[in-house]
Amino acid sequence: MAGNYDTIIIGAGHNGLVCAAYLARAGQKVLVLERRELVGGCCVTEELWPGFKVSTAAYVNSLLRPEIVRDLELKRHGFEMLPRNPSSFTPFPDGRYLLMGPDAGLNRREVSKFSAKDAENLPKYEQMLARVAEFLEPTLMMTPPDPWSSRPRDLWRLGLLGWKFRQLGPAGRQAVEVLTGSARGILDRWFESEQLKVTLATDAVIGAFASPSMPGTAYVLFHHVMGECDGARGVWGYVKGGMGGITQALAKAAVQHGAEIRCNAEVAHILTRGGEATGVALADGTAFAARKVASNADCHVTFFRLMDPKELPPEFVDALRRIDYNSPTCKINVALSEPPNFTALPSDGVAPHHHGTMHIGPTLDYLERAYDDAKYGRPSAAPMLECTMASAVDPTVAPPGRHVFSMFVQYAPTKLREGNWDEEKEKFADRCFDLLNEYAPNFKRSVLHRQVLSPLDLERVYGLTGGNIFQGAMTLDNLFFLRPAPGYGNYRTPIKGLYLCGAAAHPGGGVMGACGYNAAREMLRDG
Ligand SMILES: Cc1cc2nc3c(=O)[nH]c(=O)nc-3n(C[C@H](O)[C@H](O)[C@H](O)COP(=O)(O)OP(=O)(O)OC[C@H]3O[C@@H](n4cnc5c(N)ncnc54)[C@H](O)[C@@H]3O)c2cc1C
Repeated sequence: MAGNYDTIIIGAGHNGLVCAAYLARAGQKVLVLERRELVGGCCVTEELWPGFKVSTAAYVNSLLRPEIVRDLELKRHGFEMLPRNPSSFTPFPDGRYLLMGPDAGLNRREVSKFSAKDAENLPKYEQMLARVAEFLEPTLMMTPPDPWSSRPRDLWRLGLLGWKFRQLGPAGRQAVEVLTGSARGILDRWFESEQLKVTLATDAVIGAFASPSMPGTAYVLFHHVMGECDGARGVWGYVKGGMGGITQALAKAAVQHGAEIRCNAEVAHILTRGGEATGVALADGTAFAARKVASNADCHVTFFRLMDPKELPPEFVDALRRIDYNSPTCKINVALSEPPNFTALPSDGVAPHHHGTMHIGPTLDYLERAYDDAKYGRPSAAPMLECTMASAVDPTVAPPGRHVFSMFVQYAPTKLREGNWDEEKEKFADRCFDLLNEYAPNFKRSVLHRQVLSPLDLERVYGLTGGNIFQGAMTLDNLFFLRPAPGYGNYRTPIKGLYLCGAAAHPGGGVMGACGYNAAREMLRDG
């Protein structure tokens, strides 16, 4: 076997890179093996067409943990955030629109156009979320305690959580609702204007195979307001040069600390002896020995494709089989000759409302109906579009006067009842373009190029089972100490020396780095 490493990391997604950098920083000999030709997993910049630097999968950042940015000196390695102000624009079919962002004054004026009461309530709603965040956010960087263990460490941390929950007082009920309830239930209680509710609700269904009225969506809503952009809470920004700016900086940090990274190196097998991981073998037969192996891939890939599940306890295999990889997402990357000119807010060239996310989906019922189609295995007849144009804020990502335009589309169910995604995806993209054209009539004629990534493509390109953007649903039964399986929330697996370090583990998907950070801490604890 080649090399003799302390740790081999399977996959150079941002979590794998975070894990590698922390282990290398602690003096370990680390090898990262990535199947693609570039590092970054779902957090990449790819020059799809000359001069167009496209964040092909993830497109905005807020969740990346500030501790990681600081510890790994990511700014010195080129990472730079570009805040978006305003951060969201929702045009409506009646010609009105709602602009929102980090400026409380703007929000008040804009929401007042639809409801004075909602404008009053919005800061109170944000305060409520901030209180709940004070309880939940610290859990992101902790290893979940195992409630079935009687180890003093687990009992102590469970007790601590209970104590913190107690301190929430009456807000405890809101925290439980955020963890279990529906986004629609919460939004209906706080607000009356459809325009505000639907703008906020889109965050609740991003990546979730669910409609806003379904239990569990409040957590996804909350998950999306937990981060920060350069210290400003809940604000999402672009990364200069595209999302690959994060993973390029992480890779530089990891290499500077001594880690070795190899691309075009697909791991075919995790090698074990007597229930212990001993290394990995690539598809070409090259084998590498290591004391520990950490997988950045999802559980399906790690345990069912890179191993024989017969090596695992049946109850663990059974729990893994319950993970829901159904995905609702299609990503369309577009190169434009000019920005969309919205009928609701006409502009000559780039305008402030192009800075943020442009939401197409006018009512909560519209989102419900879009989901209904997917429920029966059909792509939405009238989909929800979340569009961004990073080049409005970052001129480095497109040639002068041109633009990169991203459409994150729901619902595009992984499993189609009729046909297959290779046949359907261009038709579905045409439908999305027609829809946007109704709001911005210059859109279709401004399209220079497009790349359509169906759920099947997301699986093929990024290795995401079912195309699920979170490496498995972010539902209550698959969060915290239940992610990925009861009793295995601490990054360890039934195979000694084999760990999970990616979004399959707590706290799940999103470009946060917390999974890789927590996994490195546990691995170092094991020596
Ligand atoms: C279309 C899309 C849009 C998204 N938008 C956002 C967004 O705007 N903001 C946000 O915060 N999050 C977003 N997300 C979610 C976020 O990108 C992911 O949750 C996060 O990047 C996961 O990171 P990770 O490092 O855990 O795993 P991944 O990024 O999935 O990385 C896993 C890596 O392992 C590699 N790998 C797998 N199998 C093997 C093998 N056998 N051998 C070697 N290597 C292997 C893969 O190639 C990949 O590089 C989006 C995701 C998608 C797909």
